[in-house]
Amino acid sequence: MGNQNEAILVDAGISCRETEKRMLRLGLSMQKVKAIFISHEHTDHIKGLCTLSAKYNLPVYITPGTLSGCRFLIRKDLIRTLYSNSPILVGNLTITGFPKLHDAAEPHSFVVSCMGTNVGVFTDIGAACDQLIYHFKQCNAAFLETNYDDELLAKSAYPYFLKRRISGGNGHLSNKQALDVFTSHKPWFMTHLFLSHLSKDNNCPDLVHKLFSDHASGTQIIVASRHEETKLYAISEPIVAHST
Ligand SMILES: [Zn+2]
Ligand SMILES: [Zn+2]
Repeated sequence: MGNQNEAILVDAGISCRETEKRMLRLGLSMQKVKAIFISHEHTDHIKGLCTLSAKYNLPVYITPGTLSGCRFLIRKDLIRTLYSNSPILVGNLTITGFPKLHDAAEPHSFVVSCMGTNVGVFTDIGAACDQLIYHFKQCNAAFLETNYDDELLAKSAYPYFLKRRISGGNGHLSNKQALDVFTSHKPWFMTHLFLSHLSKDNNCPDLVHKLFSDHASGTQIIVASRHEETKLYAISEPIVAHST
């Protein structure tokens, strides 16, 4: 996420090489990236972190809990402590982390703001807490988790304990739960919704796209792929016509 001059990464779950490849294909420069913000310590969010941060000397904003749960060694001089609801400035970007419900040490969601435009990153959430809803209501665009379809998860070969982990309130958000957040709390100015973190076994991108498109009412629905980069979108505040 970024503006003309600077950018930040939220998490680094794919390898350094794959990140570079995807950025290149999008015409983005790693030189513009100024920092990495980490949501939590699960491997699918930090796999490329050590290499990427070291190679480009990028500061890593991370909560003490997430850092202590981290299995990989981050270069000490790059570590910056992240505190809840304490905005961090990176050039003209303001990044605010806030706690979320997920089975990790100290998991956080993020809102990235620039000149009055807000973009939220809300994945790996077991349930929609009040803080999530508060921030969702202020987003011009949001990445929102649609991890699983209830029926596909119920029918899947996953063991019972894993199904419970996923759907038990501290794991992941289902399509239905995410749709409820969207239809109940979407602000009128939300122009883009990126549905993210889809399970490869218990979900289907076409199903998610159809489900949300039926309720989009003017918001563009994009389903993020597990396998390739999502193309670039420019998010800006819609122009409002006033009559006085
Ligand atoms: Zn996780
Ligand atoms: Zn995850």
